[in-house]
Amino acid sequence: MRIPFIAGNWKMYKTVHEAVEFVKELRPAVKDITDVEIVLAPAFTAVHALADAARNTKIGVAAQNLHWEREGAFTGEVSPAMVREAGAEYVIVGHSERRRLFGETDAIVNRKALAAIDARLTPIVCIGETLEEREREETFAVLDRQIKDGLDRLTAEQTAELVVAYEPVWAIGTGRTATAAQAGEAHAHIRKRLRQWFGGDAADHCHIIYGGSVKPDNIRDLIAEADVDGALVGGASLEVRSFTEIVTRSRAAV
Ligand code: PEP
Repeated sequence: MRIPFIAGNWKMYKTVHEAVEFVKELRPAVKDITDVEIVLAPAFTAVHALADAARNTKIGVAAQNLHWEREGAFTGEVSPAMVREAGAEYVIVGHSERRRLFGETDAIVNRKALAAIDARLTPIVCIGETLEEREREETFAVLDRQIKDGLDRLTAEQTAELVVAYEPVWAIGTGRTATAAQAGEAHAHIRKRLRQWFGGDAADHCHIIYGGSVKPDNIRDLIAEADVDGALVGGASLEVRSFTEIVTRSRAAV
């Protein structure tokens, strides 16, 4: 049984102080919610303080990135063990902004996912097509490549624990959400491939969440789709009120 998984991706927003204030406000608002996995992904600088503020609550913490090596001369990078030690249990890998702006390829995504698992972090692996790819009717081919290459060498057991985020690039930060039917179709395709390549248990257990302009207004329709198990939320996760609404509304529909 997959309970809804709602993660807020704060990107390069919120100082340590702002992150802690957010959690102080969110805690009472979600204290009775036990049937949704709630995760916040602050910038690296706020991971430790946020994990402290969220201690003894159901709020989990994710980093937004990591390096795949254990240590070394990689100025500006953060290792999986460092991320874990700072208090994160999850890490976002392969976000389209990292693919587009920082040259992250499927091979890099794969190294990061494997390194994260090795450090006992759960990767939230982002995949999704651009607008041009959708218009050329390549969506499924792009998803297939990103799954095959991005999840290469993962075992069925590791895939079962994974979170896959389907984030059509054209819907991120644009206010343009995929329709529930478009999301449902893509999620069903992803689940089918996971079943084919990793087996039934992995496919049934793995969370496949949707990202791209998710708001309190559209979460119900999205999560009502059979294979949509939650959401990765950017803009609407920056305000306690809208994030809480998304968490609350994700329950009723399931
Ligand atoms: C994201 O950053 O992963 C995202 C989905 O952003 P937004 O909700 O703002 O579209």
